[in-house]
Amino acid sequence: MPDDSYKRVLDRADAWFAGVLREQPQNLKCGRGCSLCCHGLFEICSGDIPLLADGLAAAHPARRKAVIRRAVEIVAASQHPNLRECSSTEKDAFFDRTSSTACPCLNDQGACVLYEYRPLVCRTFGVPLRNGDEFMDEVCDLNFTEATPAEARAAAWDLQWEDELGPEDQFSIPEAIVLIARLRGWL
Ligand code: SF4
Ligand code: SF4
Repeated sequence: MPDDSYKRVLDRADAWFAGVLREQPQNLKCGRGCSLCCHGLFEICSGDIPLLADGLAAAHPARRKAVIRRAVEIVAASQHPNLRECSSTEKDAFFDRTSSTACPCLNDQGACVLYEYRPLVCRTFGVPLRNGDEFMDEVCDLNFTEATPAEARAAAWDLQWEDELGPEDQFSIPEAIVLIARLRGWL
């Protein structure tokens, strides 16, 4: 179970995304069948680990086993470094070589099997970002392609609503799943 403050950030992210979808449906292509952003590993934080652990615990054992098996394979095949301790060069090389790796939570139909328990970054990937007043021109290539600057700014998720995290708090989803599986005795 995520702690209360992290749960509030997750709820805020879900509410923010729902609001953008309600106000600007024309600018969002997210929906069933789109899983491009689930390819290519990325960083999550330690706050997401209890969430993923809850999702794995709630999953059917066969489904849990499949997710863990995929995570183990990815960690081995990618020569996964310890993201909390490796150099920035090692980290960049790791994310380069896993830039098309499918998330272990993605099933053969292209759906997230832990959708209700997905990390924070998965919840905000479809909308633009800002850091306080500073608009960051980063958003999924499929979204906001025809949006006006005002629409994009109005839809931007503010990174200041998240806790500031250092390198000592970074994990990948497959790495987190392997850690959880070991701790829970599923491996
Ligand atoms: S963020 Fe982009 S890639 Fe991900 S579901 Fe939405 S449209 Fe698809
Ligand atoms: S946890 Fe789910 S939403 Fe996030 S990258 Fe993996 S499959 Fe996609």
